[in-house]
Amino acid sequence: MLSEKETEKAKKKVLSYLKKAKIAVNPEKDLGKMEFSDYELGNFEKYGISMIVYVNTKRVCAKEIVLYPWQTCIQHKHVTIDECPGKEETFRCRYGDFFLYIPGIETLSSKAKIQPEDRKYFTVWNEIVFHPGDQFTLYPDTWHWFQAGEKGAIISEFSTPSTNAYDIYYNKNAKRISKY
Ligand code: ZN
Repeated sequence: MLSEKETEKAKKKVLSYLKKAKIAVNPEKDLGKMEFSDYELGNFEKYGISMIVYVNTKRVCAKEIVLYPWQTCIQHKHVTIDECPGKEETFRCRYGDFFLYIPGIETLSSKAKIQPEDRKYFTVWNEIVFHPGDQFTLYPDTWHWFQAGEKGAIISEFSTPSTNAYDIYYNKNAKRISKY
């Protein structure tokens, strides 16, 4: 979990990214919708994610995800439990570039940077490169992870409800402590 000081720093940084991308936020109402996670791995700038959750009801969820340069959302999947389908999510790149990895044929010389000692936590390497305006829909029960390029990235995510408690991380040391 991020310390209060780290959270304050992250808030400022996220606002500066949104400003750069000319995405308007309401400083009063939207600050409370911000969320940060380091997946309890203690290295937020490397393995972490920031977001503003615009809406998350029983039927729909929309958020803006902000990634720092080379920051990674670690490998996970949104699983189907009993009758309840896992989350379906559509990513749309708004700013910067990012690389999404899903099951399939491994992309040789992939763009993401993962240190050799951490590669064991990343098993899907079929790369999709996003530039602003690119989008892709990911269906439930699919391993995936993504990393921003050198400018960082802003990603709009439109999905069925976020139920982070049901997400499964490939790295068993990781977990998501979340208010949503
Ligand atoms: Zn996901």
